Amino acid sequence: MRKPIIAGNWKMFKTRDEALQFVLAVNEKMPSIDKVDSVVCAPAILLRDLVKRQGDNLRIGAQNMHFKESGAYTGEISPIMLTSTGVTYVIIGHSERRAMFNETDESCNLKLHSAFEHGLKPILCVGESLEQREGGKTEELLSFQLENDLKGLTADQVKELVIAYEPIWAIGTGRTATSDVADDTCGFIREKVAQLYSKEVAEAIRIQYGGSVKVSNIDELMSKPNIDGALIGGASLIAEDFIKLVNAALK
Ligand code: PGA
Repeated sequence: MRKPIIAGNWKMFKTRDEALQFVLAVNEKMPSIDKVDSVVCAPAILLRDLVKRQGDNLRIGAQNMHFKESGAYTGEISPIMLTSTGVTYVIIGHSERRAMFNETDESCNLKLHSAFEHGLKPILCVGESLEQREGGKTEELLSFQLENDLKGLTADQVKELVIAYEPIWAIGTGRTATSDVADDTCGFIREKVAQLYSKEVAEAIRIQYGGSVKVSNIDELMSKPNIDGALIGGASLIAEDFIKLVNAALK
């Protein structure tokens, strides 16, 4: 049985005060970490403060990292800087970073290797554009992303990986994939992992759906066999909604 994982992706939202208020409001309401992994992925500047205040059942994640430990890379954050804050997770290859910050499958691959080497748990984002979906190219695109992003990772690493299937056309648009489309596509990703690794690895890996997940649609999404959790942008910014979203994973 795979443990569900609900992760908020705050993107470039929340000041320090707002972030701390959020954590104080949700800490006591998080379900047991034995049953659900509840994660908030926050801007890098807030990570240390949030880790210090995370309750027993909340974990903090970063939204990106460089693959090198140090170097002349102005504005970047390294894996050892992340681990020094005490964060647990790191998002790799979010579509906004792929589209706006030149993230490639090659850089995602380097970052995944680096995250595992440094004991961080990566959440790898994959997903197609509207044009690719409508052109019948979704499976081709996902296969390409998975083959290249996972290159050289061991079976044990991939078992620990979280993959977030995020169709780009559903992110921040209010247009959620239907639960059947989301489940079918997560099922395709699982089959692809079985083909690249083994059935055992595919059964172990956790696959989230992301894209306009909210309190009103999470139950339906979580009822699907291939969906093990959600990566949530907008709705994760509101403490009451985040509490409902993580608790939905218990049902
Ligand atoms: P959304 O964002 O929930 O606001 O659509 C999801 C994401 O970008 O991870």
